[in-house]
Amino acid sequence: MVDLSSVNAFIPGKVELGAQEAGMIARRDRLLGPAYRLMYQKPLHFVRGEGVWLYDAEGRKYLDTYNNVVSLGHCHPDVVEAITKQVAMLCTNTRYLHETILELADGLLSTVSSELSHMMLTCSGSEANDLAYRIAKVRTGGTGIIITETAYHGITDSVSQFSPTLGEAVPLGSHVRTVRAPAAYRSGPNVADRFARDVEAAIADLQRHGIRPAMLIVDSIFTSDGILPEEPGFLKGAVEAIRNAGGIFVADEVQPGFGRTGSHMWGFQRHGVVPDIVTLGKPMGNGQPIAGLLTRHDVVEKFGNSARYFNTFAGNTVSCAAAVAVLKVIQRDRIMDNAREVGAYLLEKVGALRSRHQCLGHVRGAGLFVAADILRDRESQTGDRARTTRIVNAMRDDGVLISACGVDHNILKIRPPLIFSRENVDLFVEVLDKALEA
Ligand code: PMP
Repeated sequence: MVDLSSVNAFIPGKVELGAQEAGMIARRDRLLGPAYRLMYQKPLHFVRGEGVWLYDAEGRKYLDTYNNVVSLGHCHPDVVEAITKQVAMLCTNTRYLHETILELADGLLSTVSSELSHMMLTCSGSEANDLAYRIAKVRTGGTGIIITETAYHGITDSVSQFSPTLGEAVPLGSHVRTVRAPAAYRSGPNVADRFARDVEAAIADLQRHGIRPAMLIVDSIFTSDGILPEEPGFLKGAVEAIRNAGGIFVADEVQPGFGRTGSHMWGFQRHGVVPDIVTLGKPMGNGQPIAGLLTRHDVVEKFGNSARYFNTFAGNTVSCAAAVAVLKVIQRDRIMDNAREVGAYLLEKVGALRSRHQCLGHVRGAGLFVAADILRDRESQTGDRARTTRIVNAMRDDGVLISACGVDHNILKIRPPLIFSRENVDLFVEVLDKALEA
């Protein structure tokens, strides 16, 4: 039985499709095999993107309110120019001297506390977390990992063992412990204490089983746990707990990083902590496959002295040129200010819909990352997965793209490119309002 339980997956046979789409889906199945999934009940076939817009094969445009990869917008001209120039000049790897990787390291490291003094590059967020775990094991002598209950950190063999959202068919490692996600809006005040106590209990359980803790790793905005930005600062106690137990703290910035939260370049900075390792991904190259990590010298010293690190494509000159361009645009165009200002407007407008729609529960966000619970009723706070699916698909039919997340699959995940405008928000809210009404 194929698992199609993931949030917002296309389920064959549910709705009638045009001949072209049906034909392409059949070819995908034949050529790509059973592991791939498509989004939406009517899968989309895009041929072009520009800014916040995606264009399908018929020329219809869709407002992309779901893209944290091209977070400066589709086909951003500065990134396109940087890649084009570099690919026409030279594409080589990190075994040769090259200026651009150094410029990138200088740029990235200037955005974090000076203790974090090294950058290492990978091709994906999964590889970054895989590398972080290898470093953590060497640094701590342990293997134990603590994650939140609905975490996602990636797809390699070792990382899939600490990515519970891959589903029950993908087993968690026996060295992995999960803790409740720090959802202040569900569990009430003292979220920091509760989270720290849960992490301490997980540490004790690892130790009782003879497993030495290596790392606590969290997505610092808890995306797949339902997007949990409130109240900033709640990570401190948990970070202390893992360090006291000899482990390290890894902040996975694949989702909140590169300015999405509006107030800070990195999600962990909202919490007033400095991680031992920061992992980076998706938005880093605005679509180019570049990811990596930042860390302290003492954390990586033993690993670096004992293991050679070479990753053929990671840190190639073209990907580095893309990432340097991304950093420049974030600074030059005051992208974080836009994320903060337009994000606040988006949060306010989505929140205002609560008075008209009983099914709309808690609405929360940080910058251009907003979540809204869809409930059966507010009294019981029971999530309404079926309605969430209908809303996501109705919006898609009306030309606006979002998706859903959370343990009950009932949370609207609103995550537009960081160049989103107030005008884009107005259109988004109009379409959301209509979908909630239906
Ligand atoms: N960490 C988090 C928090 C993610 O959201 C993702 C991707 N969704 C990853 C890691 C893995 O990144 P990639 O798909 O680039 O391997």
